[in-house]
Amino acid sequence: MTSPTTAQDSFGGTPTAPRPTATLFNVAMAMVLLPALPILVYYLWISLEFNHGLPAVPSVALLARLPAPTPASALIFVGWLGFHALLQTCLPGKSVEGTPIGDGSRLKYTMNGWLAWWLTWAMITAGLALRLFQPTILAEQFGPLLTTANLFVFVFCLYLYWFGKRRGRSGERVSGNPIYDFWLGTALNPRLGNFDLKLFFEARPGLIGWVAVDLSLAAEQQARCGAVTVPMILVCSFHFWYVADYYLHEEAILTTWDIKHENFGWMLCWGDLVWVPFTYTIQAYYLVEHTHDLPWWGATGIVFLNLVGYAIFRDANLQKHRFRKDPTRPIWGRPPRYIRTARGSLLLVSGWWGVARHMNYFGDLLMGLAWCLPCLFGSPLPYFYIFYFTILLVHRERRDHAMCARRYGDDWLSYCAQVPYRIVPGLY
Ligand code: NDP
Repeated sequence: MTSPTTAQDSFGGTPTAPRPTATLFNVAMAMVLLPALPILVYYLWISLEFNHGLPAVPSVALLARLPAPTPASALIFVGWLGFHALLQTCLPGKSVEGTPIGDGSRLKYTMNGWLAWWLTWAMITAGLALRLFQPTILAEQFGPLLTTANLFVFVFCLYLYWFGKRRGRSGERVSGNPIYDFWLGTALNPRLGNFDLKLFFEARPGLIGWVAVDLSLAAEQQARCGAVTVPMILVCSFHFWYVADYYLHEEAILTTWDIKHENFGWMLCWGDLVWVPFTYTIQAYYLVEHTHDLPWWGATGIVFLNLVGYAIFRDANLQKHRFRKDPTRPIWGRPPRYIRTARGSLLLVSGWWGVARHMNYFGDLLMGLAWCLPCLFGSPLPYFYIFYFTILLVHRERRDHAMCARRYGDDWLSYCAQVPYRIVPGLY
């Protein structure tokens, strides 16, 4: 369990190599997932909307439920993208350099997400006060918006594919297989001038859209039942907090796997614009129709679980982030212990990074569980998030592990020997 492997990661080829080979398995996987993932999201929505939140029996008849885009959904989608592009471009923010890219240079990013986050809510509140739109508009247009977002991503990713190919920059990880390259993308940091497409789609329209859809679903519950229930308040507050916290520590995204190592293609773009806003909202969608209450001790326990998860998640990420900036800064009141690798980087062995190798994932998973529990146990669908997220983080940890093993060799082995657990202390 603790020995590093040199196995290729299943989706990314060989991340440290400039030109990975698309294996038959990788291409087949991309060919299956490109249609299967959108179908899965439609299936989840159909189950929520037409089957009272219970998994619908898969059948051809469900195809009749597929929603067409509407003029309203197209307007909302394009307006939302345009609004956030404008905020990203025009709002002031700290200029921060990313980690070194292939040629050793560093790209500059403007960190104005915190301002954009609050300005978005100010604008939405103003729009509601002026009755420019109804609070339930996103809940009502959920299906058509899902189709609009899917169509946009498929077309936009053709552009992304062409963008990277056209530039043909050396150092970009492209395999030469069109399907695999469409799936993973052909450019690490596609930019239009200074406008960074990957950071924008990773961090703005889908992420804030997730919370906006949640709140619209809460408004829908209010409209239908005359009140917003405690479970709905919990779910919306947890999500709101999670995303607000992201913007508060926005700079940390620059050292994440996606920004540093992943090309910007269908996989990321679809994840940002479809998967996040349309599946992370499943709990709120489910609660619109399921208006149960929670005992005070149940609600308190769930809040506590979320707080514990948050504390671990945030503190672990901050410990690494601060350690990278200043390796002498004390952790838990003591000078940090670390391994100096042959490459020169330091691997932290103190704090959460000495408890398990990805305690940040563990904290994230605890929070994910707290988001599902308010829905109680009448259906498995609200637990889709924790189910998927566990698979994602286990898979992600293995990819990261394989890459660190290649990068740090024996130093990584030594770290793994000192910190034997991957994610869950004492268990995994
Ligand atoms: P990490 O922030 O854990 O970054 C992993 C990298 O950290 C490694 O590649 C290595 O990079 C460095 N590293 C590993 N071990 C050490 C160590 N002991 N000391 C110092 N550096 C180390 O992973 P992610 O980028 O995947 O995740 C960031 C956060 O985002 C997590 O909290 C995760 O839960 C969350 N997340 C949330 C998602 C969601 O949908 N809600 C999706 C994905 C992630 P290097 O060698 O280059 O320094």
